[in-house]
Amino acid sequence: MKTPGFHIVPLSTEIADAARRAAKAGAADHAVITVDSPESSPCRHCLRWAEPGERVVLFPYTAIPSGQPYSETGPIFVHADECQRYSATNEYPADFRIGRVFRAYDSNYNIIDAQVVDGSEPEVVIESLFQNPDTTFVDVRSVTRGCFTFRVQRA
Ligand SMILES: [Zn+2]
Repeated sequence: MKTPGFHIVPLSTEIADAARRAAKAGAADHAVITVDSPESSPCRHCLRWAEPGERVVLFPYTAIPSGQPYSETGPIFVHADECQRYSATNEYPADFRIGRVFRAYDSNYNIIDAQVVDGSEPEVVIESLFQNPDTTFVDVRSVTRGCFTFRVQRA
């Protein structure tokens, strides 16, 4: 099998743990929610849907740093209890093959391309976005809610 030209970047364990601590400390912008329906709350750390009955922390995450025209902070979920960070970084996460939009960014955090992935092969779309030499990374987001799911970088 050919090695893909990309790698998946899940949320860091440091950020996930900090969010869990902030939620425990009662931070107003960190809500603990019990998931009530399947495929509603993607955990950005293990890159799986949280199961109904599992608790997640909902908090604002800065995917694109401030000081840029495309700066962006938005709501994301992580499991409230410890989970294993996604480690199959050369494989596209199976839970998020549909209902995502891929945004290609250049090295200055400008959006230079975007494609909806809903039925097409995500790997093919990622490779086509990386065919542009200016594409530095691709952010994968929910096509409906717009929330950041994970980042894809060149291998
Ligand atoms: Zn998780």
